[in-house]
Amino acid sequence: MRVLVVEDEPKLGAFLQRGLSEAGFDVHHTPNGDEGYELAQTKPWDAIVLDIMLPGRDGLSILTQLRKQRNAVPVILLTARSELDERLEGLGLGADDYLTKPFFLEELIARIHALIRRLSRDQLSVLEVGPIKLNLLTRELEIEAQAVELTTREFSLLEYLCRSPGRILSRTQIYERVWGYDFDPRTNLVDVYVGRLRKKLGVAADYLETVRGVGYRLRKE
Ligand code: CA
Repeated sequence: MRVLVVEDEPKLGAFLQRGLSEAGFDVHHTPNGDEGYELAQTKPWDAIVLDIMLPGRDGLSILTQLRKQRNAVPVILLTARSELDERLEGLGLGADDYLTKPFFLEELIARIHALIRRLSRDQLSVLEVGPIKLNLLTRELEIEAQAVELTTREFSLLEYLCRSPGRILSRTQIYERVWGYDFDPRTNLVDVYVGRLRKKLGVAADYLETVRGVGYRLRKE
């Protein structure tokens, strides 16, 4: 399992390099944000351990860019105790987890394993609800064996609904999960996308139910 460590504190960087290698990871360590960003983009990693304050590009900016490029590599942020705002911002920007310094190496190793496990489990699964078959690995939707093209957002929306069929999801929940920022009550983005998705679902459209005044739900069988 290949892990990229971007950390500029020399002692901590060397410690992580050694400790993670001993734990069986194939580790590459860089103390520089620009190099970290370059490596994150150009090589396949199973996880990235990312410090926030770095020389060159900072950790949150690296994370933002990766997610913009739809790079879903698991990212664990390393933050100082005083960096609460950055920590929250980081999770909002798509970090999978964070650890506050100082931390135990065992804790970091456990978190990396958990993320990689979660990812491989997610990737293996095909979500099926009625005639809707959503392949999370190939990002393909099939309805009664017919392929249906979805945009990335439409896919995320349908994935979120398919992950908990029968459960009512509020507009706020959908918005924050699919668009990833604070819900703006003036927006009707969710309704617009649900409308588009319904059209694309065709014969399966009636599975996507409106729960008046609350939100949406994907009907179970
Ligand atoms: Ca630092």
